[in-house]
Amino acid sequence: MMETYYKIRYINKENNEEIEMPLEKMVGILLNLEMGLNFHIEALKAQAIVIRTNLIKSSKSLEGGNFENIWDNREDKNVEKIIKAVEETKGLVILFNDKPIEAKYHLACGGSTENSENVIDNQIIYLRRVLCDYCKGSIYWKDEKNFSIEEIENLLKINFPKMDIDVESEISGFMEDIERDEYGRVISIKIGNKRFSGKELMELLDLNSTRFAIFPTGVKFVSRGKGHGIGLCQYGAERMAQEGYSHIEILKYYYTGVEIKEFQLPCIKRPLYGKIIVIDPGHGGEDEGHRGDSLGLLEKDLVLKLALKLKSKLEDLGVTVYLTREKDEKVLITERIEQANKLDPDFFISLHMDYFYNSKMKGCEIFHFRKDYNSEKLGSYILKNLKDRQIATRGVKEGNFYVFRGISGNSLLIEIGYLSNPQEEIKFIDENYMENLAEGIVKGILEYFQ
Ligand SMILES: [Zn+2]
Ligand SMILES: [Zn+2]
Repeated sequence: MMETYYKIRYINKENNEEIEMPLEKMVGILLNLEMGLNFHIEALKAQAIVIRTNLIKSSKSLEGGNFENIWDNREDKNVEKIIKAVEETKGLVILFNDKPIEAKYHLACGGSTENSENVIDNQIIYLRRVLCDYCKGSIYWKDEKNFSIEEIENLLKINFPKMDIDVESEISGFMEDIERDEYGRVISIKIGNKRFSGKELMELLDLNSTRFAIFPTGVKFVSRGKGHGIGLCQYGAERMAQEGYSHIEILKYYYTGVEIKEFQLPCIKRPLYGKIIVIDPGHGGEDEGHRGDSLGLLEKDLVLKLALKLKSKLEDLGVTVYLTREKDEKVLITERIEQANKLDPDFFISLHMDYFYNSKMKGCEIFHFRKDYNSEKLGSYILKNLKDRQIATRGVKEGNFYVFRGISGNSLLIEIGYLSNPQEEIKFIDENYMENLAEGIVKGILEYFQ
């Protein structure tokens, strides 16, 4: 029987090979690897949706295709359960704001999952900490590892103080509170909750004398849970399934505020997949940039606001976007340049605002470095789109800014408007104006690449 499936193309990160195969088949293969047959069917369904979501999020393209039968042998008892989990969730993905989420998961959380920013530096709204007792008692609930002192020294590349009888040491909570006479013999020591005299201890442990010191020779680390702890807890999902929760309930428990829906192609079409753009909102922190003459708006705030809008819109098109600052903080220009050069982006786009003694001066102006024809071309696409949206423009020009000289690739600088012009300043408090501006810039970028 001919059936329509989606065909996925993506880059295998391990060997950089491009892979193309039916999406649902890929979900099945990964499901078997990442969770396996021992899990409850509802847990497997939850994991299948997680895998599908991640594949779609990272895919290069997705298109409909007709396949006779995507499964090699669906009667194979070993994969029957996997195929069932995949087929019964066919096409379902986890969405937040109608976009596929980054569906992180781990083996066992050990009591509570983790907020994303504590692990990956990035605050992701649906990856919030939730309590989870469900993985309690699983094979990954508790783990113990013993290390000798030498092993610790080697692994951590450190040196503890050389242990010798002349170096006093205690093992806090275990053996402490050592009392000695003036010649160094132990009078008494507290071990556990009990105090022993030196003589008692010498007899009980068959020590050669009461002139002794104590040192640890090893340490035991006891850990709970396994993995980074963000998103779905796999053993927690298993237990929830056993307790009668559905795969949807499981996913909604671990991913905060998400929806599980069949995906729509438009939400995942990414014409600019693979492009990298660094956006550089000027100034920040104590460096405010220009200040508006009538309302006192600050350049550093407006360019950041625009940068964040651009980031989200460009990401929707598949661009990988980096910001040189994501909040109101001071970042040196040299740091911005260094950061950008490491990323080797297609474009580096600096955002600034203008100021002039003549308060009539207005409009958006774009600069590129000399002989940077790519940036000149991109600049004119952007300005054309801004003009189409009734935004005042001034032109694309050659500029000789410090930042241009440092950036090794294509770079442009957009002066988004004049803060010395009261009529222009007031536009920037209008959300629609900002939105329109961002939309125009993004449209220009899209047209350039197409
Ligand atoms: Zn858990
Ligand atoms: Zn500036």
